[in-house]
Amino acid sequence: MILPSDDKKLAPGTHDLDVIVIGGGISGLSTAWWLAQSGLKVQVWEKKNRPGGKIKTDIENGFRTEQAASMIMNFKSEVDQFFTQSGVEAYKTKRLLKAENNRYLINQGKLQPLPMTITRLFFSSMWSTQGKFRLLMEPFIGKAKKHNETVTEFITRRLGHEFLEKAMEPLIAGTLASNPDLASARHVIPRLTALENKFGSITAGIFAHKIIGKRTARDPESFSFNGGMETLPQQLASDPKLGFRENIQVKKIIRHGPHHWEVQASGPDGDIYCKARHVVISSPADAAAQLLKPINQTLSELLENIEYTPLSVVHIGLEQSAVKHPLDSAGFLVPRDEKNTAKMTINGNLWMSSIFSNRAPEHCILLSSYIGGARQPSAINLSTQESIARVLEDISPLLGISAEPIMGRIDKHQRALPLYHGHYPEKLKAIEEQLRILPGLHLEANYIGGVSVRDRIVSSKKAAEKIIEQSVLRHESFQVININHSLIETPA
Ligand SMILES: Cc1cc2nc3c(=O)[nH]c(=O)nc-3n(C[C@H](O)[C@H](O)[C@H](O)COP(=O)(O)OP(=O)(O)OC[C@H]3O[C@@H](n4cnc5c(N)ncnc54)[C@H](O)[C@@H]3O)c2cc1C
Repeated sequence: MILPSDDKKLAPGTHDLDVIVIGGGISGLSTAWWLAQSGLKVQVWEKKNRPGGKIKTDIENGFRTEQAASMIMNFKSEVDQFFTQSGVEAYKTKRLLKAENNRYLINQGKLQPLPMTITRLFFSSMWSTQGKFRLLMEPFIGKAKKHNETVTEFITRRLGHEFLEKAMEPLIAGTLASNPDLASARHVIPRLTALENKFGSITAGIFAHKIIGKRTARDPESFSFNGGMETLPQQLASDPKLGFRENIQVKKIIRHGPHHWEVQASGPDGDIYCKARHVVISSPADAAAQLLKPINQTLSELLENIEYTPLSVVHIGLEQSAVKHPLDSAGFLVPRDEKNTAKMTINGNLWMSSIFSNRAPEHCILLSSYIGGARQPSAINLSTQESIARVLEDISPLLGISAEPIMGRIDKHQRALPLYHGHYPEKLKAIEEQLRILPGLHLEANYIGGVSVRDRIVSSKKAAEKIIEQSVLRHESFQVININHSLIETPA
């Protein structure tokens, strides 16, 4: 829709705006947060009536459920910096010890603890002798000859088929809703491919880091927040420096020249517009494609072609006494062979009330299951009743459930997650090439740089650094502070 210029008003607080961010999910909010730290003037416009995008916490019959991300798994120092400096650290809640000790996997139709150390793995009956010896071969396997391997190709070549099917496939399907046969290794398991690139093998890389005492990352830490994941976007959006505004749907982006952009939107007070030197689009790829169609058809088509997968999250609340299993873990994953053989619907089951306190009423438990994804996209069409029934059918015999749930809820996402499938490095390269001819336009969302909340925070820092660098080079801003807190330009 083209808004007649005399019908729209300049949005309040947008005079001399450095950056307008479209979309108030975690990508948009964290980009705005990094930018605001540098002294740039920012606003975030979000079409919904709340910040957070996919991230949303609900309370149903006293059970605290998550629509999308249920926890953050971090090992990156810039994520620590983000939480400490934003003050969101104060709301963090750590994983309960109960969930730390075991990991379960379905093996031959049963729930079995995964061996957590190399020694245990070698004594475990879950792994075949051949599979164990194949793991030992890893340091002697040569580097990839093919440029863009899939996860399946990379893992099978380095660690063997059994490791793919028992460890990597369930992880990729359960946490990313993706298919390792199609997913780009470089984008989905970047730490493993980087070890091979640098050291020739994963084992050599791990040993080298140990010997030289160099850690690329610290020990992983999983956490959420007392009030649920929604606390994160809510706290960020409440910082006035981010200029977060809800109920504003961006309708049109106009390019007036390099670093001279106009954004038109409709909001509660009618049609508005703003002008800014930089536009960051943090919406999902299809919404970005629509906005960019009149500006750059090629870029719009590249974004339109990014594949997303549907996924449903099924939450079940039960009386503790109705469940035999001690639920002494974070939950379990289902390998595809097991899913096919036993005709199961779920990809994985998280024992939320074992992971964090404050997720279920006293003497009750909360279990959240994932159904659909690239493995079975049609599962999104199951009704609420059917979805709950299928999940109960799968988990009841495994966990010894003997009574009806006291709470059942389903969160459906038609376009849950982008799939890093196909020739993803080439796709991203083509997107970058188009962006190079549109100075001041940036894309920062979960189809670039990883889908996890951790990756979103890391990736948004890089995006912000790029904008800050360009602002300094162009002397756009009077005073710009490096996000790592040194002054990089002072008033003339
Ligand atoms: C079921 C599920 C489980 C997950 N579990 C985990 C987990 O446990 N841990 C983890 O780290 N990650 C997890 N993730 C991934 C993570 O939650 C998402 O990748 C991340 O939240 C996406 O953030 P985003 O800001 O890129 O996109 P979104 O959250 O989709 O935000 C985009 C925003 O743009 C807005 N928008 C769109 N168009 C416009 C417009 N024209 N004008 C204004 N605003 C617009 C939208 O309303 C939306 O708010 C999970 C995801 C799903 C779906």
